[in-house]
Amino acid sequence: MTISNLPSADLKIAIIGAGPAGLGALITLSTLPFASATIYEKKPSVSEIGAGISIQPNTWRMLERMGAAETLRSSPFHRAEDGHYTQHRNGRTGKLVSAQFDSAGTPAAHQHARCHRGVLQSALLKRVDPARVKTAHRLTHITHLPSGRIHLAFDNGATDEVDLLIGADGIRSVVRSVAFPEHRIAYTGRTSYRTLVRAGDVAKIEGMEKEKEVVAFWHAPGGRWAYTCNLGDGVFEITTMVREGGEGVERVSWGKDVAAEKMIEHFADFHEPVKGVLRLAEKVQQYALFAGTRLPKVHIGAIALMGDASHPLSGAFGNGAGFALEDAYVVSQSLLWAHERNKSIQEALQLFDKVRSPHYERLYAVLDGYAATAKQLENPNLHLSFDEEVAVLVTSNWSGVNNWMHYYDVAKAFSEMIEDLDRKDAEKSAGNRDVIERRAKSLLDGNLENLVVEKARL
Ligand SMILES: Cc1cc2nc3c(=O)[nH]c(=O)nc-3n(C[C@H](O)[C@H](O)[C@H](O)COP(=O)(O)OP(=O)(O)OC[C@H]3O[C@@H](n4cnc5c(N)ncnc54)[C@H](O)[C@@H]3O)c2cc1C
Repeated sequence: MTISNLPSADLKIAIIGAGPAGLGALITLSTLPFASATIYEKKPSVSEIGAGISIQPNTWRMLERMGAAETLRSSPFHRAEDGHYTQHRNGRTGKLVSAQFDSAGTPAAHQHARCHRGVLQSALLKRVDPARVKTAHRLTHITHLPSGRIHLAFDNGATDEVDLLIGADGIRSVVRSVAFPEHRIAYTGRTSYRTLVRAGDVAKIEGMEKEKEVVAFWHAPGGRWAYTCNLGDGVFEITTMVREGGEGVERVSWGKDVAAEKMIEHFADFHEPVKGVLRLAEKVQQYALFAGTRLPKVHIGAIALMGDASHPLSGAFGNGAGFALEDAYVVSQSLLWAHERNKSIQEALQLFDKVRSPHYERLYAVLDGYAATAKQLENPNLHLSFDEEVAVLVTSNWSGVNNWMHYYDVAKAFSEMIEDLDRKDAEKSAGNRDVIERRAKSLLDGNLENLVVEKARL
């Protein structure tokens, strides 16, 4: 279907999921006069579990485009006074191994900030028409109709028929399982525990007087770490990463309440003030991390995948919300591009893929680098001490060499891509014009023989 043939608001779009990807998609698609989009969310309300979330420079840029940055700026968030966005410390001794600052030239308004996940979600929610968000709708069936449209069925008996389906339904995406049935995700062997405690209680812990304001990873061998960060408004976040076997354990990927001891027991060898912070936890949420290989592309037919549904990276990099908002921006801009040039939905989604897939390829390559470091460190002949292994891990994986993803300018990447496509289209039509002109000349010259040859070539 050619998008520009549609009467106003006739491109019907269903977005599955109201996380950062789905909300970002609804905000950006609502600016397209030829489209009408609706979110279907399985939860009874748009709510957010979990702890903190990093707002990276690329995320700020997207939030500004979506008109959500000001709301977030006027909500509670934390930014370190000296401008560091993370410190990497030795978990056993507490010593600073390395500190990361936003790269020179980052506008103050775009510097890294950390807030509660609900704060980000509220800022996005404020920009959407609530009538366009249908909660308590769990997508259960997707059927491709001979017309090219897609029929959707939900667990509450509701149905819909749309021209474009956007899967923004997270790491365990139902839409992805229909679009790419052979693709699998699996437990990574790594589990994250997360909780919030009172910042005032952290301030009372001996040895945390200064550290209560730092954004810190406290590292240990084997990729085990604890992350501590103030979130503003008297709230303090604890996120930890440990290795745990998956045998016989029911693993949910997003937030299961467990006793705080399940987290604390992993950090017996840690610096006493950090252990003091962990002991403040009353109950914690367990996130068994799942991941899958990179998809060959982020769309198929009239289905597009966005956010964690399109790149099951398991929360790596602390930038998943930023990636999700970038996806939302590119999907809507690609549809606009197609609309302005009389192209089809499929051509719009091909453009979306051309911009996003290479980016995800680079992100997966970073993960390959992490895996290579872990493999090297598993060598039994290495005999590294706790402190030596932490030094290697921080230098290899956390030195800032991969921070380019936080500064990636998706709008620039998109406009470069369409300039390139438009130039190729112009060259193609100039070539066609050339052929037509030669045909016309042949006719005028009465050279019918030439005309037959040109026609055969066409
Ligand atoms: C431990 C951890 C730490 C992280 N830290 C950060 C961080 O600091 N910064 C950052 O930017 N990112 C972070 N991330 C990643 C970030 O949370 C995700 O990348 C982000 O939430 C992805 O957004 P999404 O909208 O794609 O998916 P989600 O947020 O998972 O939203 C998907 C939505 O779809 C709904 N849904 C699912 N199935 C259906 C269905 N069948 N029908 C209807 N609705 C459905 C779900 O209920 C949910 O609301 C972290 C992740 C983890 C695991």
